Amino acid sequence: MRIGAAVYGAMTRPDIHQFPCLKDNFGVLVHDDESGVTLSIDAPDADAVQRALDQRGWRLTHILVTHHHADHTAGIPALKASSGCTVIGPRAEAHRIPQIDQEVGEPDTLAFGALRAAVIDTPGHTIGHVSYWFPEAKIAFVGDTLFAMGCGRVLEGTAEMMWGSLKKIAALPPDTALYCGHEYTVANGRFGLSIEPDNLTLKARLDEAERLRAEGQATLPTRVDVELETNVFLRADQRSIRERVGLPLVPDWKVFAELRERKNRA
Ligand code: ZN
Ligand code: FE
Repeated sequence: MRIGAAVYGAMTRPDIHQFPCLKDNFGVLVHDDESGVTLSIDAPDADAVQRALDQRGWRLTHILVTHHHADHTAGIPALKASSGCTVIGPRAEAHRIPQIDQEVGEPDTLAFGALRAAVIDTPGHTIGHVSYWFPEAKIAFVGDTLFAMGCGRVLEGTAEMMWGSLKKIAALPPDTALYCGHEYTVANGRFGLSIEPDNLTLKARLDEAERLRAEGQATLPTRVDVELETNVFLRADQRSIRERVGLPLVPDWKVFAELRERKNRA
């Protein structure tokens, strides 16, 4: 029996290779054997990305950029020069990203062979930050919007904007794997525990993250359901947290803003 393209599309699982680079960034490659497509999520460091490609014998076809910061874009010119890949990135900050070929924003969808992705606007860390969600593969690349047990600093947008972006990620299917731009899990978990000392799931996860880091291993990717239970920033709408920070009656985003402020000072 021939398996139709639609069925294949629904079942396909790309190969994913995540690797640490620069100080605490992650590079991620997504490869679909059927079509030969290989995506790099951001381009923190051209040499590290090229090494990862060479190790697996994959040829780079696309770079998917989440936001304009140098630790996510500095590798673009060299990788594009060597591979001729297509650079896709957020429309709202395209002028700050080198050599963009395709500008995207919500609700654009992208297709790479059998892989399908939806672009989600997730502003706050930067004003045009986007995330890429692959619904069938159950993965999302959220850049510097959400980290394991944490979130990015609100540098260009407002706290209300960032809260809206985090809510979008929280609303993805619970079994969606989340790939993030940085390994900040232990510091985030310690801060989270200072806000929610009785959250045993958070405590257990922090212990696990500390063990993994002691062994030199990555704590990412995370998952939507895990974040909903252990990420105090996503949990700013919980009564226990708003009471804990002394803001029982304000809108959720103001509780989030207070948590972000406290983390900035921590
Ligand atoms: Zn950034
Ligand atoms: Fe970053």
